Formats: sequence, structure tokens, C-alpha cells
Amino acid sequence: MKILVIGGMHGNEPLGIELVRLFQEKRIENIDVVLANENAVKDNCRFIKDDLNRSFPGNSQGKSYEQKRASYLLNLCKKYDLVFDFHNTHCPDNDCVFVGDLADKKLYDTASYFGLNKVIIADYDCINKYTSNCVSIEISLASKLMNANLWYKRIFKLSKMNEIPLARKVKKFRFVYRMTLEDKNKLNLPSKNLKAFNPINKSLADKMGVKSPAYPIFIGDKYTPNNYGGILNEL
Ligand SMILES: [Zn+2]
Repeated sequence: MKILVIGGMHGNEPLGIELVRLFQEKRIENIDVVLANENAVKDNCRFIKDDLNRSFPGNSQGKSYEQKRASYLLNLCKKYDLVFDFHNTHCPDNDCVFVGDLADKKLYDTASYFGLNKVIIADYDCINKYTSNCVSIEISLASKLMNANLWYKRIFKLSKMNEIPLARKVKKFRFVYRMTLEDKNKLNLPSKNLKAFNPINKSLADKMGVKSPAYPIFIGDKYTPNNYGGILNEL
């Protein structure tokens, strides 16, 4: 199986960057790596002009570095059977994966194989929306999965498999809402003790105009101070 590992889609999220460097130090046949937002990684910031993971499908003649980079990455992804794109969040107990509507079934099998049974379907302009072979892996900074060596071994093992074991229990969610800073203040969200993947109460969901049960993620994440988190519905 030919695998691409993407780190640094957000230039200040450490797990993918460490993992890319590990694969560069100890190369493995059929596994390639790329630092997605290379300039942001150099500057240790999330992005230079535009959030790269909101810049897809991108444009090779685009104005910003990220638009060009998105176009390059989409073309690169086509050369692989599987693409892993690594992310981090400050929000605890938030480990999960993202795929797009086009996702190949093997992405669900892969998520399940890795023990990440929460799969979120994203339809904003992220890499997942435009690929069928890319799964984004979102790991909390405090998680026991926040370990580049562990992912190095896991991906090495997977690359040697002919077939990925079939998915067992996978919970599918859809990203339906972003909690704004206005929501945060108006609804006094910090006092609600929200926890990732624990449903919020119905009256709060009603106030945000989302269906219940509604599951919050990325709550108060320091990586994205321009919003207060996301809301999911189960599919
Ligand atoms: Zn990220």
C-alpha cells in the first residue's frame, strides 16, 4: 500500500510535524511525507495568509501561498492509496477522524483499525471534501495517542498489509455548526462545562439552532481563538 503522511496542515500543531520528521530520519518504502504548510511550520504559526485546511481545492495560480499549496497537495494525494493528515487540539478527549462525503470505505476501516471510532464528515473546504483517500486524524494534546513514535509504528504496520481489517463499530457524525464568540458570550458557554462528544442540553442546542442530540468538539481550543468550537449531529 502506498501511503502519504501529511504533517503541518496547521503549522503549529506538533504531532504531524514530529511524525514527518521521524519518517524523514527513518525512511520506509512506500511511505512518503510532506509538510503541508511548510512556511507556517517554519514560522511556528497556524498559517501565513489563509487557513490551508479551508483553502481547498486551491488554485495553482492563486494569490495566497495557501491557495497554491492546496492545489499542489490535492494533486499529490492522487498518487497514493491512503493519505493521513495529522492535527492537534487543546480540547481534551477530542480524538477523532475527519473524512469527506466522497470517502472511500477503506477510510472508515482505517479509522476503526486505529481505534478511532468517531468519524466526522466535514463539508467545508478542507482536504477531506475533495479527496476519497484522505483521512484527517485529530488528536488531543493530552491524549495517550499524542506520540509520534506510536503513529510511526502503526503506519509502518498498516503499509505492510494487503487488506485493512473491516470496520467494526464506527460512529458517524456530521459537522453542523461553529460556536461563535458571540454564542460564547451570549449563552455564557464557558459556564456550561461542555465536554467533547458529550451531548449539550436541548435548550442550549435550541438556542444555537442545532438539532439534538448535539455534540460539541474543539471547545475553547487555543488553536482557533476566533471561534468557541464545533457542533456535531450523529448520522
Ligand atoms: Zn489542525
